[in-house]
Amino acid sequence: MQFRDLHRQYEAMQAEMDEAILAATRSGAYIMGPQVAELEQQLADYVGVKHCITCANGTDALHLALMALGIGPGDAVFVPDFTFFATAEAVAMVGATPVFIDVLDETYNIKVADIYDNIKVCRKLGLKPKAVIAVDLFGQPAEYPWLQSFCKEQGLLLVEDGAQGFGGSIGDKRACSFGDISTTSFFPAKPLGCYGDGGALFTDNDDYATLLRSLRVHGKGTDKYDNVRIGLNSRLDTLHAAVLQVKMRHFNDELQAVNRVARKYTELLQGKVTTPVVPDGYLSSWAQYTIQVENRNEIQARLKAAGIPSMVYYPRTMSQQTAFANLGQQPCPVAKRLTETVLSLPMHPYLTDEELETIVSQI
Ligand SMILES: *Cc1c(COP(=O)(O)O)cnc(C)c1O
Repeated sequence: MQFRDLHRQYEAMQAEMDEAILAATRSGAYIMGPQVAELEQQLADYVGVKHCITCANGTDALHLALMALGIGPGDAVFVPDFTFFATAEAVAMVGATPVFIDVLDETYNIKVADIYDNIKVCRKLGLKPKAVIAVDLFGQPAEYPWLQSFCKEQGLLLVEDGAQGFGGSIGDKRACSFGDISTTSFFPAKPLGCYGDGGALFTDNDDYATLLRSLRVHGKGTDKYDNVRIGLNSRLDTLHAAVLQVKMRHFNDELQAVNRVARKYTELLQGKVTTPVVPDGYLSSWAQYTIQVENRNEIQARLKAAGIPSMVYYPRTMSQQTAFANLGQQPCPVAKRLTETVLSLPMHPYLTDEELETIVSQI
């Protein structure tokens, strides 16, 4: 059994996929071919924002977002203590200081109330509180209605790290539309994945969009060989754009399928382990289905013996990362406990009922 069965997904769309890849190969326009601009328009329409700017990966997307927002040395950026390393890494890459905030036990997402106290701490340390990066962890959007009003009130910029969240929603608003700038990743195992590395940024702000289009190509000006600022080389390859165009045609079906799998998991596991909670009005894109258990080693060993893969996302908090030891921040209590209890189970749109029952019977 596969943790995320990308081969089954390929088989489900093989004819279309082969054709799209071959067409991109034959065109010879390997960088910035027409598929890239087409895809950007499709993704912007899907998410419901004015601009989509693709780039080389989800980490660059975060890095570019912080560059465009003018965040740098002396600035504090609030990030959840429980996330993938890249969220905080991007903050350090621009020379700013990540400040780790605890998460909610039920949704695994940033605890807005805790940001408030940390604003005061930052000011005392001589740091300027500048932005929040909220993460749509495991596919579930963070509490954006509250985050948006909180950030406005506090004069903070809001970045949505939607690397795991593409496809999720709150009411009629889709993930990757909630930040001043929002980002996603097309790493193969993410809810919308290409066949290599890829990423994108989303914004309604024309000035940010112009800046991001420059920053992703070496800070180019209107004349390509007049570089007006320092940027990155961070484009999405034509081949990946072609792959993503095919996957977008199947995306809503896949979104329904993962939600069906999640409902079934929860129905079968309810009362036996702590199952993930999706608040009313929220839709998750289920990058992961993550339970909490006290006897994790035992369960993982039993699954392994039955040929079932499972993963621990994440075994360390951001504050416990060696690379951030110099910051001297203590692990946040909920985040730390989660690192000891979380277990992610196989999750993808092509998981069968039979496989699901086998997994659950082992737990
Ligand atoms: C995967 C991921 C990223 C980074 O994306 P890459 O495309 O792998 O660079 C950033 N943030 C979160 C929360 C992620 O899960």
